[in-house]
Amino acid sequence: MFKALVLNEVEGKTVSAVESLELDALPAEDVLVEVDYSSLNYKDGLAVTGTGKIIRNFPMVPGIDLVGTVVESASDDYSAGDKVVMTGWGVGENYWGGYSQMARMKPEWLVHLPEGMEPRKTMEIGTAGLTAMLCVMALEDGGVLPTSGPVIVTGAAGGVGSVAVSILAGLGYEVAAVTGRPETEAYLRELGATTILTREEMAEKSRPLERQRWAGAVDTVGDAILARVLAEMNYSGVVAACGLAGGFKLPTTVMPFILRNVRLQGVDSVMCPVARRQEAWGRLQSQLPDSALGEISELISLDQVDDYANRIVNGQVRGRVVVDLK
Ligand code: NDP
Repeated sequence: MFKALVLNEVEGKTVSAVESLELDALPAEDVLVEVDYSSLNYKDGLAVTGTGKIIRNFPMVPGIDLVGTVVESASDDYSAGDKVVMTGWGVGENYWGGYSQMARMKPEWLVHLPEGMEPRKTMEIGTAGLTAMLCVMALEDGGVLPTSGPVIVTGAAGGVGSVAVSILAGLGYEVAAVTGRPETEAYLRELGATTILTREEMAEKSRPLERQRWAGAVDTVGDAILARVLAEMNYSGVVAACGLAGGFKLPTTVMPFILRNVRLQGVDSVMCPVARRQEAWGRLQSQLPDSALGEISELISLDQVDDYANRIVNGQVRGRVVVDLK
């Protein structure tokens, strides 16, 4: 018997409960994993609270990330005892995921734990941290270097935002952080932000072009804030857009693109090719110090997931949340 958080639909509403299950209850996939940790991302919050209809098939075990040890494998790529990490691929949305002490996974969803990386660190990073690194790589691909000028991170006190601030500051960028929570200012400065901007000032309706301020941007919120960021980009600036915590709309014009050569680069971690993932994980291992993650993350139990899911959809979670399944 093992414990898992199971979602069911009752009278059109999503309800979650920690249940004891037998191995036979797990879907048939080739690799059986004993899970050490999972994590809580914004999408997990949406899934567990039933907001945004992330889950369509019930019962469902959510949890879009996991790290653990292979117990049995029908795949030549993995053997019992291997440490593995999984993020994305629709796991925890369409397939049973990581809020479970045991999980069955397809081998192609897994990557071997990066050499020398602690399992808990991979979940302190999780999908949010991986996405932050993919955003930084997108800025670099667009030619944005620490010498190019200041960069801005929106939703900065959230999971993606916190890791993005840490990585960028560590690489030598001058980082401005946008937050709706003034109480997180000391935390954001600790992570390396040198300028703090309020959500209100960035959400103010912008003209098609505003004063040029930013060489690069990591946007996790969308809507009016992304529109203002685009209007404030320097000539040839790059915006890596990965999130919609503030809304999925984009009330902008073509002006930043056609007059300032601005690039809007979408970033997706879910279907990201394996080679790019591996590159990102390798860089996270070497370029995100454990001290920063200690500041960013907190550990919760499976029983606390429901409460934290409500908190993350209400924008009340700071940094990253790791779920202990051991
Ligand atoms: P978090 O909830 O941890 O962070 C989101 C942050 O956005 C909040 O902490 C808050 O930051 C800010 N925020 C919340 N509500 C609003 C609002 N109404 N208006 C403006 N800002 C707001 O979530 P994650 O970091 O896990 O995810 C961030 C976004 O990125 C989500 O939309 C998520 O779906 C997306 N995402 C996309 C991925 C991809 O592959 N494309 C992968 C991972 C995440 P503050 O308090 O500092 O203002």
